[in-house]
Amino acid sequence: MSRSGEFCPRCGDAIEADLDARPARPGAEGTRNPDSVLCDGCYFEEFDLVEAPDRIDVRVCSQCGAVHRGNRWVDVGAQDYTDVAVEEVSEALGVHLDATDVSWEVAPEQVDENNIRMHCQFSGVVRGTLVSEEVVVPVKIARQTCERCGRIAGGSYAAIVQIRAEERTPTEEEQERAQETAEAFVAEREATGDRNAFVTEVSEVDEGLDMKISTNQLGQGIAKRIVEQQGGTFEDYETLVTEDSDGNEVYRVTFAVRLPRYRPGEVIDPEDGDGPVLVRSVRGNLKGTRLATGERYEASFEAGDAPDARRLGTREDAQWTTVVAVEDENAVQVLDPETYEAKTISRPDYFDPAADEVPVIKSRAGLHVLPDEGGDEQDG
Ligand SMILES: [Zn+2]
Ligand SMILES: [Zn+2]
Repeated sequence: MSRSGEFCPRCGDAIEADLDARPARPGAEGTRNPDSVLCDGCYFEEFDLVEAPDRIDVRVCSQCGAVHRGNRWVDVGAQDYTDVAVEEVSEALGVHLDATDVSWEVAPEQVDENNIRMHCQFSGVVRGTLVSEEVVVPVKIARQTCERCGRIAGGSYAAIVQIRAEERTPTEEEQERAQETAEAFVAEREATGDRNAFVTEVSEVDEGLDMKISTNQLGQGIAKRIVEQQGGTFEDYETLVTEDSDGNEVYRVTFAVRLPRYRPGEVIDPEDGDGPVLVRSVRGNLKGTRLATGERYEASFEAGDAPDARRLGTREDAQWTTVVAVEDENAVQVLDPETYEAKTISRPDYFDPAADEVPVIKSRAGLHVLPDEGGDEQDG
C-alpha cells in the first residue's frame, strides 16, 4: 500500500518510499513514533547505533577480587581485571532498537595497569542499510578494599568457635581438620552469594584452637559440623561486649567444642580383663577393636565416648617387626622390636598368616599386633 503524499516532519520533503515495506520495530506495533516518519536523510543524521557511556569506573577489591556493582560488592572470582572491564563495558552498551542483525565485538587495549581503552565495534541493519560504528570507552580500574575485606582487616567478628578436648589437648590433625571444616563451611556460604560469611582469625592457644567467625549463625553451623565429623559436644554462651550507639546490648557468642577424651587410632585398656582396644570411632559410643582377638569393642551407653580406661599409646607408636612363626589359631611368634627376642603373643583374627612383617605396639599391657588403618574412622 502506498503512502505517498506524506511529508518528512523535519525537512518537509515528500516521502516517496513505501513505509509498509520497512521492518517492524519491536514493541512499536500500532504506535506512531515521529522518528519512523522521518525521511532517511533526517533519520540517519541523528542516528546512533551504539549508546555508550563516556567512561566507566570499575571498582575492584584488591584483596579478594570482588567487583562493585550497583551499590554492592559482588564476588566474581576475578583473576584478571581486563575480563572484568570487558564485562562491565558490555553490560553498559546499548544498541538502537531499530537495528537488526546486530553483531559486536569488544577489544581491550591496556594503557597502563589501571587504564584500559575498550574498542567496541558494532554493526547492524537499519532501514535496510548496513550500519557500523566504533566507540572507544575508557575504563579506569580503581583498586579498593571491599566491606568484607575491610571488616576482616579490622578484626570484626561475632562468634568464637573454640576447639578443645576432654582431658587432653586436641592434636594438630584434629585442629587442622576443624579449621578445614570451618573454611569449607564458609566457602559453601560464599557460593550462595553470602558476603557476610568469613573467618576473621584463627589462633592456636595452649588448650587448642580459637576461630573468630563473622556471624553467630555461622559459628553455630561450624561447631555443629565439627562435632558431627569428629565427635564430642559443644555448648554456647554469650558474652556482653558493649552497647551499640542505640543503646542495644551487643553480645558475642562462644561455641565451645569439646572433642572426646580418646581419639581414633589411640590404644586404650578398659581394664575389663579382655585386654587393650584400638579406638576406631568416638562418634556416639566409643567403638574399637580388641588387640588380643580382633573382636569388636563398644563402650556402654552410660560410658558413651569416654569409658574409664588407661591410655597405652597410639597407632603412631607402632613398629614393624618380623613374624618368626605362626604357632596355632591363637598364638603367633614375633620379634620384640626392642630386644629382638622371639616372643609368643596372641593372634588376633585380623592377623595375616602370609605376612613376613606386621605392625606391633609395645605397651604396659604387653606386645600386640595392630590391624591396618582401614577400619579407623576418618571422614564423617
Ligand atoms: Zn527529512
Ligand atoms: Zn574484598
